Amino acid sequence: MTALKRKAVFLDRDGVLNIDLGYTYKPSDLKLVPGMTDGLKLLLQSDYAFVMISNQSGIARGMFTASQVDSFNDELLRQIRCEIPNFKFDAVMICPHHLNGVIPEFSIDCECRKPGIKLVTDAALQLNLDLANSWLIGDKDTDVECAINAGMRGIQVTRGGKQYPQSKKAFALVPTLRDAAEIILKH
Ligand SMILES: [Mg+2]
Ligand SMILES: [Zn+2]
Repeated sequence: MTALKRKAVFLDRDGVLNIDLGYTYKPSDLKLVPGMTDGLKLLLQSDYAFVMISNQSGIARGMFTASQVDSFNDELLRQIRCEIPNFKFDAVMICPHHLNGVIPEFSIDCECRKPGIKLVTDAALQLNLDLANSWLIGDKDTDVECAINAGMRGIQVTRGGKQYPQSKKAFALVPTLRDAAEIILKH
């Protein structure tokens, strides 16, 4: 008997969970996207795994360290738990790379930077995920591209602090995670 695969919602971080100020890394700069926790509460009504998936090329660019990203993510979780006690991410997947970085070990053309799918496939193996019934919510067209490359559906949100080109392949284009959650629960 094979264990039943679980469906997941992959959540881009900057511009979806917290306001994207551009290379945001200081916990003191962390501001949740308004209504975001309402979206998480809606998704908690169903049995989705939550996977945070974030390109953090600021690490390769020498703007901040991986441990500073961890501290930011800790503060993010702390603030979410003020609204949703016991909330957890089933996995947190970070790409630290960029081809034009300045830190040699991270300055590579990797397969995990979105729209690459290595972080998705790693999480899928780790958590035994059913990607065909999973979703990715992001604020960039490359997030939607990643979703499609991995066989998922991608929803683009627009009120996360930055305006990016609209994806033509998005399943939906909506203001926030709350609106995206409503769409996911209907499908
Ligand atoms: Mg983003
Ligand atoms: Zn990478």
